[in-house]
Amino acid sequence: MRQPAAIDHAVLCFIPWGGDESDVTTLSDKMVVARKEASCAICFGPIMPKDRVRAQVQVYDGKVRTFQFCVVCCAAMVRRYFATSAEDEMEIEDRYDLGRLAAENKAL
Ligand SMILES: [Zn+2]
Repeated sequence: MRQPAAIDHAVLCFIPWGGDESDVTTLSDKMVVARKEASCAICFGPIMPKDRVRAQVQVYDGKVRTFQFCVVCCAAMVRRYFATSAEDEMEIEDRYDLGRLAAENKAL
């Protein structure tokens, strides 16, 4: 059994946004209990009140933005961190694919 703190650490070690982050300031990045419904910043799936999710608050271009990551995506981040196989590595990529599909469907 892994300790909860180790699991949180594994989630928080995952960097959700690739590329140049130099003009982004992260104000906070931690595990929280969701207070209201939201959608996941990766897969666009639902986040329900009382879900334990990762919340990242960033300032970009003078605007404060909060990103939340759903339970399933957090689990995929953990799997990636402790990966022992290619499938473990790829699970989080599948979550991004879901998000891209959801964005495309919304745009139609
Ligand atoms: Zn998600």
